[in-house]
Amino acid sequence: MTAEAPAPVHAEHGSLFTDHLVTARWTQEEGWGPARLGPLADFAMHPGMIGLHYGQVVFEGLKAHRQPGGSLAVFRPDRNALRFQRSAARLAMPEVPAEMFLDAVQTIAAADGHLVGDDPSLSLYLRPLLFASEANLMLRPAREYTFMMMAFVAGGFFGEVVEPVRVWVSRDQARAFPGGTGNVKCAANYAGAFLAQRRAEEAGCQQVVWLDALGSGRVEELGGMNLFFVRGEGPGAEVVTPELTGTLLPGVTRDSLLTLAARLGYRTGVTTITVDQWRAECAAGVITETFACGTAAVVTPVGQVHDSGSEWTIGTGAPGPVTAHLRSALLDLHQGRTSDPDGWMVPVL
Ligand SMILES: *Cc1c(COP(=O)(O)O)cnc(C)c1O
Repeated sequence: MTAEAPAPVHAEHGSLFTDHLVTARWTQEEGWGPARLGPLADFAMHPGMIGLHYGQVVFEGLKAHRQPGGSLAVFRPDRNALRFQRSAARLAMPEVPAEMFLDAVQTIAAADGHLVGDDPSLSLYLRPLLFASEANLMLRPAREYTFMMMAFVAGGFFGEVVEPVRVWVSRDQARAFPGGTGNVKCAANYAGAFLAQRRAEEAGCQQVVWLDALGSGRVEELGGMNLFFVRGEGPGAEVVTPELTGTLLPGVTRDSLLTLAARLGYRTGVTTITVDQWRAECAAGVITETFACGTAAVVTPVGQVHDSGSEWTIGTGAPGPVTAHLRSALLDLHQGRTSDPDGWMVPVL
């Protein structure tokens, strides 16, 4: 396929890579070298690279959106720069300076932003990656690292029409445990979650609900997304999300929605909630909606929950009004249709 070939209409999310890549290298002797923009291409690696053997790899995900005047703007890249640093520090890796990270965001978005076209439902998903590129099989942190920033064109994660997802509660496998790496974006967290994701799909579900690893049944998050619960209805509804206990990922979307929901007049808060409580409160009509959120999926309603062979429906099973309200508020902000009092949208120059 040539670069001019039209994009496949039903391409899988994450497969439409753009044309460029930013790369920089860190060595123990010299620290960070310059970040360079080049064509996206395969690269040579030593088979003994530490990142490949011991999983010393972290990543990020953020999006640039087309704005009404035709420019592009990136949503809260400073938050991703900080989280990338926290992830790196947790795996004993050097931090990418925020300025280098934000410059790479600008460089790749400026180089490949045109591929988004002027369809506001498309966005440029940026994927920063940091891996241990030293060849050495000693069990120790590497002395050489490679930072890359690549991009792909993203549509709506679950399609443009937001169908509620059916989710599957993982009772016998855990994603994260106290003192582990659940609160950072390290590659190994995802490899460990793939088997449960496959089981969820075999049960006719799209995503895995992760519980705390200690058996208390506390709901933590959903696949690569954070969860929210809506109690009550209308303007007096309460919008809550599991608290950051150290075993769930502090999502930028989660943080943004807590702010947006409060601005829209909802009561907001953080909570602890078990699966049994979730089910009982749905049955009692207390919890009226549940949704998941993340950079890729934005805001996605949860319709049904499958747990240990039985299933329940949240509300009517259709997308709820509070979910729809928050989703459109966030999309309006991303796509420049509303005011941005916190300066979350950073223009691509
Ligand atoms: C990335 C991620 C999220 C969502 O974070 P955002 O910053 O909102 O994209 C939630 N959970 C996990 C496990 C993640 O990796």
